[in-house]
Amino acid sequence: MSDTVLVLNSGSSSLKYQLVQPETGTSLAHGIVERIGEESSSATLTLGNNEIRRDGRIADHETALRTAFDLFAEAGQNLDDLGLVAVGHRVVHGGQDLYRPTVVDDAVIAKLEELSPLAPLHNPPAVLGIEVARRVLPDLPHIAVFDTAFFHDLPAAAATYAMDRELASRWKIRRYGFHGTSHQYVSQQAAAFLGAPLESLNQIVLHLGNGASVSAIAGGRPVDTSMGLTPMEGLVMGTRSGDIDPGVLVYLWRTAGMGVEEIETMLNRHAGMYGLGGEIDFRVVHQRIESGDEAAQLAYDVYIHRLRKYIGAYLAVLGHTDVVTFTAGVGENDAQVRRDALTGLAPLGIELDEHLNESPARGARLISADKSPTTVLVIPTNEELAIARACLAVL
Ligand code: ADP
Repeated sequence: MSDTVLVLNSGSSSLKYQLVQPETGTSLAHGIVERIGEESSSATLTLGNNEIRRDGRIADHETALRTAFDLFAEAGQNLDDLGLVAVGHRVVHGGQDLYRPTVVDDAVIAKLEELSPLAPLHNPPAVLGIEVARRVLPDLPHIAVFDTAFFHDLPAAAATYAMDRELASRWKIRRYGFHGTSHQYVSQQAAAFLGAPLESLNQIVLHLGNGASVSAIAGGRPVDTSMGLTPMEGLVMGTRSGDIDPGVLVYLWRTAGMGVEEIETMLNRHAGMYGLGGEIDFRVVHQRIESGDEAAQLAYDVYIHRLRKYIGAYLAVLGHTDVVTFTAGVGENDAQVRRDALTGLAPLGIELDEHLNESPARGARLISADKSPTTVLVIPTNEELAIARACLAVL
């Protein structure tokens, strides 16, 4: 039996889990517990062709994990038979010091707690998930894998905000970057797909999910990325604004009388595609545009405009790029977004093949025209597999 890693991604009211065999890349099972703490909680497990669901209140994250294990029992799967060797935890923010995959002990938990002010929406639930899993599975190593890790060594010019250096240093303010596990995995997969050494390629990776970010990668090393101190900077996202004049925040605080929490919630949860058009799912956004919804059209136009701006910026940062790769929910599935992001860029060396782009194929695929100097790819991301592999490397 091949080694298996349980990968956990713990949010404030959800727990995603997946059982992965890193050596073969096989996902044995996955599921999610949602609305933890509410009356309408639900837990699902997909194991082979077996899909199990349980509805009803799940009080807390520990009950959530135990419920997931109950579902395995209900599916007739004994976890002891799976060769579990580690639990991998996705942690959004590792700050300046935590970037290698790290075996969690009490000292690491204390460090993660110290980092909570840097990622108040993401790190506390991750710490909670780790503590719960350590209680439920005390005999396995627990390994934290950080979303910021890949960008730890960004060049100073990209990582530094143009502000008082002492203030920035005192409060650890820099561009950290997020979705690093995905950007690294996808850029490696792109090189493998092309049969070219990673070191030989300049790449732009567009991770377009509900959260969205771009990275510029030279020879396997990131040289810039769109998310910053927090995952709010950069592209227009499902509910996050991305780039916004910092003056807007001051103005809202001073003139509109909004409080800090209100502004944070607005930028994180009520902005982006949702704030502009009331909808985050691009399938619905397209339908609304078809039916003449002007707000949906504007949201889409702002989204595409920002995306094109970043592609242009990262072309300039890199000098030239060999590969542009789309990944995550929107990037993998939405041919129209891909087309509108790259239309008219032939003078910059990027040309899509319309037919390949529209093809309903899944999996890693090439979508650029033969004559396009830059190769355009779609590569499905797989953060769980990347986390599981990182865990195995530590062990
Ligand atoms: P997350 O950041 O939550 O991991 P995902 O990468 O799963 O997000 O992306 C989810 C988003 O992908 C959805 O909100 C939707 O906008 C988009 N999406 C998923 N499937 C499709 C599709 N077939 N066509 C267009 N967009 C899609």
